[in-house]
Amino acid sequence: NSAVIMTRTVHNPTLALRELDEFNPDLVILDMYMPECSGPELARMIRQCDRFDSIPIIYQSAEEDLDKQLWAMQQGADDFLTKPVRPNVLIATVRNRVARARGLKARMVRDSLTGLYNHTHIQQLREESHERARRLSRRLSVVMLDIDHFMQVNDTHGHPLGDRVIKGLVMLLKQRLRKSDMIGRYGGEEFVLILPDADGIQAAAVVNELLERFRHMDFQSVSGAFSCSFSAGVAECRPDQDQPALDWITLADQALYSAKSRGRNQVVIA
Ligand code: GH3
Ligand code: MG
Ligand code: MG
Repeated sequence: NSAVIMTRTVHNPTLALRELDEFNPDLVILDMYMPECSGPELARMIRQCDRFDSIPIIYQSAEEDLDKQLWAMQQGADDFLTKPVRPNVLIATVRNRVARARGLKARMVRDSLTGLYNHTHIQQLREESHERARRLSRRLSVVMLDIDHFMQVNDTHGHPLGDRVIKGLVMLLKQRLRKSDMIGRYGGEEFVLILPDADGIQAAAVVNELLERFRHMDFQSVSGAFSCSFSAGVAECRPDQDQPALDWITLADQALYSAKSRGRNQVVIA
């Protein structure tokens, strides 16, 4: 029976890491013995890269020595299939491993309260987006956004209502922003937006519109209705500024700090 699994074969293990970056597979199948380096050596190399530390690795080999199999597994692999392998066993193994890895990954990159990307993942997305923007000579803006006097909201109306304010803002962000934009929850009531193809002025206009709508959102508490505002900092990453080390989130954060010190409830461009 046919299984829709796209594969790419690498004959030279020294090219494997580059191929992994390019093909971005859901799973890797290794032989134990290859010309340039062994399967276990390659498994260890793959595991040393943070970005590949959760990709499933399976050996498919004629090696029957259990000690050697065990040692190979200890180099960071997930399964060992001894040749000859029945095709349906191989397909089932690959399918199950990939499904589990995808489920785990989704939980690893998302924040549970809001479903947005979490702190670590939005930073990674920021790096990747910046890389892409530079390659394609496109604009990119990074926004740091923080709800004003949120401590007071919690103190006055209680933590559950505070949570509702966070969710209200998140709903607004999801509704207004483009599919290609990325939204992350950076901290408790702090958010990072990554806006591809937007310069600083355009990004600030979008964020100002979001601020306008957020200010008009009414939240109900036992002591009556109330509303909130936020402050935001915008940093535009220019593709000609070839500085990968430059941390755009920090720049956006500094602009956010200015917005706070100028009286909050406003957007500042770095
Ligand atoms: P500022 O205008 O300077 O940002 O003032 P602030 O009170 O918002 O500043 P600060 O960042 O010091 O306070 C944020 C508060 O947000 C502190 C914390 O108790 C609360 N918080 C963080 N995460 C959550 C959450 O998930 N739910 C709720 N309800 N509150 C949270
Ligand atoms: Mg705040
Ligand atoms: Mg804060």
